[in-house]
Amino acid sequence: MKEARHDVVVVGAGPAGSITAKTAAEHGLDVLLIERNQEIGVPVKCAEGVSKEIEKFVPLDKKWICAEVNGANIYGPDGTKVVLYGEKMDEVGYVLERRIFDKFLASEAARAGAEIRVKTEACGLIEANGYAKGVYVRRMGEDTRIHARVVVGADGVESKVGRWAGIDTRLRPSNISVCAEFLMCDIELNKDYSEFFLGSEIAPKGYAWVFPKGEDCANVGLGIGGDVSGEKHHAIDYLNAFVRNKFPDGKTVAEMYGAVPLSGPLNESVADGLILVGDAARQVNPLTGGGITYAMQAGKIAGEVIANAVQEEDFSKQRLMEYESRWRGAFGKRLETGLKAKEFFFNLSDTDLNTLAHSLEGVKIEELSTGALLLELIKRNPKMLIGLAKMVL
Ligand SMILES: Cc1cc2nc3c(=O)[nH]c(=O)nc-3n(C[C@H](O)[C@H](O)[C@H](O)COP(=O)(O)OP(=O)(O)OC[C@H]3O[C@@H](n4cnc5c(N)ncnc54)[C@H](O)[C@@H]3O)c2cc1C
Repeated sequence: MKEARHDVVVVGAGPAGSITAKTAAEHGLDVLLIERNQEIGVPVKCAEGVSKEIEKFVPLDKKWICAEVNGANIYGPDGTKVVLYGEKMDEVGYVLERRIFDKFLASEAARAGAEIRVKTEACGLIEANGYAKGVYVRRMGEDTRIHARVVVGADGVESKVGRWAGIDTRLRPSNISVCAEFLMCDIELNKDYSEFFLGSEIAPKGYAWVFPKGEDCANVGLGIGGDVSGEKHHAIDYLNAFVRNKFPDGKTVAEMYGAVPLSGPLNESVADGLILVGDAARQVNPLTGGGITYAMQAGKIAGEVIANAVQEEDFSKQRLMEYESRWRGAFGKRLETGLKAKEFFFNLSDTDLNTLAHSLEGVKIEELSTGALLLELIKRNPKMLIGLAKMVL
């Protein structure tokens, strides 16, 4: 078997992997970033909405920003509309073109000095004395042993790297959002607003979205709870019904299916010689399903911590825990609040959701964030939401 040696091997070239690779390479490390697909960023499995917070992690580039939105309309099960609008936008601000964005991030990693190999799949972990010491990879039928001082699992929702290292990454069906999405064109839409649709008939234990991608195109999709998905009740069945009703004359130019982990973060995202980043570490807001900016933030922290660990020649779990405490400090609270809010809202009946939507009808919430929405809801429905208030405030 062929052999290779690097300081760091990063498995998966999504936003988490590319930013980790870029940051570690910027600190002078010899980094290999591998991606099993033949093209980074493809197939797109995402609705591509991000908050303006993304500007903190990467300078904006028109090449990968497809649309800018100024607000969000949220529709209750009976159609009642709630409007979020404003200068301060925490949740949705841009709709990306991820096939370009993900390639751009990987190119930045390459410019910083990382080596990149596509069509290269990690198939097992090299271990010694309880430490991760690299990965076995397969590229076009050829196996290579890649030795590394630190292994990074940035291999997304289906992550195997964590499992190989003995980390419990299992997801219960109720903690998975099963999604289907169409890229639709020739539809009538408000190109300045993202739209969200709630209700058990539209998307049980989830929601439907319409994220504009220009004048007459949008990502139209939905996610449902993995525990309610079944015969004739698959995400695609709900999406077909939604589209028939909302965009009967629209044209579908792409289809995709995917899953989002809604469990909240793993109890542990590090092991001896190993770090998990992004969806692999379940760093996704369980209420909204958004994970791109968390993956980027965690990737930057991971790259910095790995650089320190290499300098100190200490790759123990204890040393790498700096990563865990830093990312939890940066956004762990938001994920915890999101988990509590998800558990509360996903169990409400349509009648309760309508009551909540009616309480905000005609009110313009001048901050586009789930935090502002929750606060306004609690203010207007103190009795109904006392349990939630105790959890999130
Ligand atoms: C339907 C849907 C809609 C979404 N919408 C949004 C949204 O609007 N906004 C938002 O913020 N988030 C959204 N998300 C979540 C978002 O896509 C993820 O949180 C984000 O992509 C996480 O980045 P990542 O780098 O951790 O993982 P990924 O982007 O999934 O990248 C992981 C990479 O690892 C590769 N890989 C896996 N296994 C191996 C292996 N063994 N060897 C080599 N390579 C491997 C994969 O091919 C993949 O390229 C959505 C997700 C889905 C499914």
